[in-house]
Amino acid sequence: MILSGTKIAKNIYKELREKVILMPEKPKLQVILVWENSPSMRYIKQKKKWCDFIGYEFELKEFWNQVSEAELIKCIESSNQDISIHGILVQTPLPAHIYTQKILNSIDPKKDVDWFHPYNQGKVVIGDKSGLEPCTPAGIIELISHVEKSIGGKYIVIVGRSNIVGKPLANMCINLGATVSICNSQTKDLIRYTKKADILIVATGKPKLISKDMIKEEALIIDVGFSVVDGKIWWDCDFDIIQKTHTITPNPGWIWPMTVSFLMKNILKAYYLQK
Ligand code: NAP
Repeated sequence: MILSGTKIAKNIYKELREKVILMPEKPKLQVILVWENSPSMRYIKQKKKWCDFIGYEFELKEFWNQVSEAELIKCIESSNQDISIHGILVQTPLPAHIYTQKILNSIDPKKDVDWFHPYNQGKVVIGDKSGLEPCTPAGIIELISHVEKSIGGKYIVIVGRSNIVGKPLANMCINLGATVSICNSQTKDLIRYTKKADILIVATGKPKLISKDMIKEEALIIDVGFSVVDGKIWWDCDFDIIQKTHTITPNPGWIWPMTVSFLMKNILKAYYLQK
């Protein structure tokens, strides 16, 4: 069975739109882009499309790639003070001369809709739901909830330990009562873990890392990763695993909408956190 995030995301957009239409003041997202002719523009256009649909205001602030850290921080500090801006999103990657975490740390945690500030990250570790949420992990948990009543007691294996997917997702699953293993590129004998997983979540960007023989019958597989080799998209899981599983694949088509819909949820939450 294939589970798609597209339909679930559309319902989230509609629910948000119904709430925003009743609001006298509209929440506003500011996106900061530093990259000449960046492919990031494709992602930004999608975010704008859904902001327009929901009724959020959207502002794009562009800088050429020679911009200094100081200039960027000055811009963010000014947006932090601006009460008409409720969410600030710095589109990454940033040019090599800029220390990305320093820039992200300068965003007011209440406006950190892309969830990069250590304050919000810490809240997820301790299971405090009052802060903003990591968009991709929260989207994955929502997807899982459509096929599993509870993940308490499940054995979940996450392949990939990035700050944006693997680590926050592991914390969220632990807080929900799952038993979690998190693997990385140095994990020895990966199959030893993947083969036992009730739920396997793969976010590596390594083509066909997971094959049919690496999973157990009837496991739920969430394939977050993808890569482009010679112009062709590859998923982290070999597509033939579909014969054996519930599977959510391929990304970017079906996980990406969940990420964007949770970004949209964060914008509304950020608005209320500032009231
Ligand atoms: P990342 O920061 O590059 O992290 C990749 C992770 O995969 C690392 O922890 C790495 O281990 C691990 N890894 C690499 N090769 C491995 C191997 N052979 N066995 C086990 N683990 C291995 O990437 P990311 O930002 O988390 O993104 C991962 C993938 O998800 C990418 O394809 C990205 O495009 C996709 N993604 C999709 C969405 C979305 O659609 N919503 C959102 C975010 C990311 P080490 O730490 O040891 O290097």
